[in-house]
Amino acid sequence: MTTPTARMLLRRRSLLAGALSLGAALTTLGTGAGRAWATDGPLVSGCEAWGARAPKSPVKVLATGAQKIIVHHTATDNVTDYGQDHAFALARAMQTYQMDKEGWIDTGQHFTISRGAFVTEGRHGSLAALDSGTRIVESAHCTGQNTVAIGIENEGTYIAEEPRPEQYAVLVDLCVRICRQYGIRPYQIYGHRDFNNTECPGDRLYARLPQLRADVAARIGGDPAAPVWPVLATGETGERVRALQYLLVQRGATITPDGAFGPATEGAVRAFQKQIEAGIDGVAGKQTWNQLCAPVAQGAAGAAVTAVQSRLTDLGFATTADGVFGPGTAALVTAFQGSRGLPGDGVVDARTWSRLIA
Ligand SMILES: [Zn+2]
Repeated sequence: MTTPTARMLLRRRSLLAGALSLGAALTTLGTGAGRAWATDGPLVSGCEAWGARAPKSPVKVLATGAQKIIVHHTATDNVTDYGQDHAFALARAMQTYQMDKEGWIDTGQHFTISRGAFVTEGRHGSLAALDSGTRIVESAHCTGQNTVAIGIENEGTYIAEEPRPEQYAVLVDLCVRICRQYGIRPYQIYGHRDFNNTECPGDRLYARLPQLRADVAARIGGDPAAPVWPVLATGETGERVRALQYLLVQRGATITPDGAFGPATEGAVRAFQKQIEAGIDGVAGKQTWNQLCAPVAQGAAGAAVTAVQSRLTDLGFATTADGVFGPGTAALVTAFQGSRGLPGDGVVDARTWSRLIA
């Protein structure tokens, strides 16, 4: 979930638990039925099936596909009711909480997997967008990523406990389906804490993500290794710092990319971290890079492109840092990708970014 602090998490947890108790009192208790399967992915019960309320205002459907998947836990109890009725009650309780307490227009996430391995649609339109493969519903599950990432909530609290094997198996299936539909590569599966200051999805579920990427890659191919980022802090100098500074300028910072990590750069990092609800420490680490390094490709222009070009030059692929991503830059990116054993598509995605910054 999105709540960044433990205090708020606990508050949410108790409220959600309260709503669930109410839900359980009002609905027939779980049937104990097994999970529903489909050969090309898990069966997803749409908003109508579980009795969703209408959104407060129309959901926004963006004509761009999803770039990544973000895994969450609901931070609710690890219930032992594995029935479909419970999964539907959970979906209603979460929607009620998020609309009435958070003030959102609808459920925050795109999909929810219950402890009993039933999958429900979250925000209206998520399933139709998934089926299209070319659209994403703007969501509210991860600050800074809600227009580009599919959010999957896993019922339970996975700080000290593992998800149930049945639940994990359906998570793999759902990720496979989402990756196939949108052309997402397995390394683009993340945990909420990779972007925001939160414990979500819990230490145990987060520790399962390398396995999740590998299990998805085993089904659809591709490299499952997550991007690795350097840690840059005050006192550091060099071309990596300059790239960081260009990326911060792209996001509105008014600093001079001089390759020296001084007080102004630290201030810009802190301001960006606040904006994206990352941990605020003034150090450029995983959350900062994951949020800064949006994909760029031919046709793009701006300081992020200058960052790409300055790094290419520094790494032996000389070009003019003019901030315009033309065919020449694309050819150099492709050559750089080949030199690093990456698929040479000329697109600077998270993996290519991480190799440029490393
Ligand atoms: Zn989360």
